Amino acid sequence: MTLSPTDRAAMRTAVEARRDAMVDDLVTYASLETPSDDVDLLEVGLAWIEAFLGRTAGPAADRRVRVVEGYGDTVALDFPSPTGSAEWVTALCHYDTVWAEGTLAEWPVTIEGDRMTGPGVFDMKSGLVQLGHALAVSDALGLPRPGVRLLLNGDEEVGSIASRPSIEEEVGRGGAVLVFESAAEGAVKTARKGVGIFEVQAFGVEVHAGLYPRAGASAVDEMARLVLQLHGEADIDAGTSINVGIVQGGTRTNVRAGHARAMVDVRVTTADEAARVERLFASLTAHDPLARVEVTGGWNRPVMERSPQTGALYERAARVASDLGFELREVSVGGASDGNFAAALGAAVLDGVGGVGGGAHARHEWISLDGMVERTEFVTALFAELA
Ligand SMILES: [Zn+2]
Repeated sequence: MTLSPTDRAAMRTAVEARRDAMVDDLVTYASLETPSDDVDLLEVGLAWIEAFLGRTAGPAADRRVRVVEGYGDTVALDFPSPTGSAEWVTALCHYDTVWAEGTLAEWPVTIEGDRMTGPGVFDMKSGLVQLGHALAVSDALGLPRPGVRLLLNGDEEVGSIASRPSIEEEVGRGGAVLVFESAAEGAVKTARKGVGIFEVQAFGVEVHAGLYPRAGASAVDEMARLVLQLHGEADIDAGTSINVGIVQGGTRTNVRAGHARAMVDVRVTTADEAARVERLFASLTAHDPLARVEVTGGWNRPVMERSPQTGALYERAARVASDLGFELREVSVGGASDGNFAAALGAAVLDGVGGVGGGAHARHEWISLDGMVERTEFVTALFAELA
């Protein structure tokens, strides 16, 4: 439902009135370090989030938890529609960051003018704060909204291995999926590349390289050829990158190398290219009959292609933004997110409805405080649209 001009004005006043509270909440949240690999810190971060949601969105009607040793817990919280809407949306929010414990000591959360900088403010702690306050405003004013199923996971930055089953389960319950990752220069993401991580190993036969230069087989020689072959199969124009980022091999200068390994990052924009890359890796063979090649790994996140349902959701969101007086652009990006899993299940996915700023994974990541207000209004109005 489109908000009436009166509701829209009341909503804007209510969000604006929360500006300082939102800033305080984000400062507090970003001042809790939540690196993906520190379960104790993740637990503290998650406890703060649930308390924060308790005082913004209110108590959750249902709480589902997935516990996997060595990872932060995955929690799904239900906030049913208080206005009787039968619709539901799934909101995806990861609470881990790429920043190791101790980063805050060198890089504390700071505000200068419209900008806040600090570990995780852009990716993606602002998104969660905006979501909590959007729910609070929506419910305080009695605006229509769908039920919101909020998924919190603490392993997104390391591939969502532990949380993926929960993500798929929640998305499978139906409805649109909103990913509260930050926006790309203000734009939402309606397509994301698929990401694969492959390991290629070459096995040779070790012999004294000086005494028997023709004997044995060199794994380093094999790997050198494989690296050139792999890089030669990239198709940047088609959106396919293949990057051998790590190569290791050999033991001594005078030994024909017995083993070499390479780690390869692959990005694709279409399922066809994903299939071509799979065939490529399956076809890798050794040049020397005495050597052999082994490939492991595969796709971490499937391609998120711009489906018709995602396109339709974007159109609705763009109308909502335009009613609020700003243009919501859409982009296709190279990074993957949990939105990729949702899109692979056929859901309509709008990714990047979180903070406005820049510098993801960089030591200067920042968000705009005005952007925070703007996007909280946007999410509140989008909820009304989807109710
Ligand atoms: Zn993120």
